[in-house]
Amino acid sequence: MNQTIHYHECPACKSADIQKVLTAKDHTVSGENFEIWHCNHCSLRFTQDIPVLSAIGPYYQSEEYVSHSDSQKGLINNLYHRVRNHTLETKRQLLQTVTNKQQGSLLDVGAGTGAFSKTMQDAGWQITGLEPDETARKNAKQLHGLDLQSPDQLYQLAPAQFDAITLWHVLEHVHDLQGYLENFHRLLKASGKLIIAVPNYTSKDATVYGAFWAAYDVPRHLYHFSPASMQALAKSKGFQVDQMQPMWFDSVYVSMLSEKCKTGKTNLLPAIWNGMLSNANSIGNAANCSSVIYILSKTSA
Ligand SMILES: [Zn+2]
Repeated sequence: MNQTIHYHECPACKSADIQKVLTAKDHTVSGENFEIWHCNHCSLRFTQDIPVLSAIGPYYQSEEYVSHSDSQKGLINNLYHRVRNHTLETKRQLLQTVTNKQQGSLLDVGAGTGAFSKTMQDAGWQITGLEPDETARKNAKQLHGLDLQSPDQLYQLAPAQFDAITLWHVLEHVHDLQGYLENFHRLLKASGKLIIAVPNYTSKDATVYGAFWAAYDVPRHLYHFSPASMQALAKSKGFQVDQMQPMWFDSVYVSMLSEKCKTGKTNLLPAIWNGMLSNANSIGNAANCSSVIYILSKTSA
């Protein structure tokens, strides 16, 4: 049985004009190498020869995969959790601003252990949360009393019911990229907003670290977006990108992880320096940031 998927065309725009650009190593779990390919038509990059959905589970089995474990071990994890609380409030405010609603209905896709879902529930929002990892779902129940569901539910939910759909560093992980976007379009109200945060391989820190850039995170990250590729994909699915927002902390966090990939050590000073350089390059232009939050709205019914 074939356990991997070899793309002959771009998974976003279907162009056959694709080529290999990098080989990156899985530094977190398997130590295996994966090729990263580039689409010359829409500029999406994607991991080649990815494990099929039923075979990718083992690549997520790591303590360091922090969004699933809530582990606070180690300096980088500790920092991640400190910053996260601040970030949750920023995300709540962003959601309320772009929807122009203090309260509404939210579909949180890839909810992890439910920290963001819980923040929005506490703010009075009606939450539907989807999460593929069973341990994370159990943790969400224990920690926050949240009943997250399996992502299969995405295809079953009733149409036009959500004011917002959020994916915080999730879209780069999903096998059914086309199907997910089609369902988001189906599930959003006409005035609804789709909020997608993903790493940006065109950022300065990505350029500095090259194949060691931690946000390539192969093979868990199936796609590596540029702002242009996100805009093209949005358009092809009946959306438009209304605005982009920077995620300032990601440049430093990703630089810290990248230093570790490159040297095997936690080199704080060069990481902070490279993160700050990347941020300086993004002031006034979120499209240059290490990670970008894309705010999408529907252009068709
Ligand atoms: Zn493409």
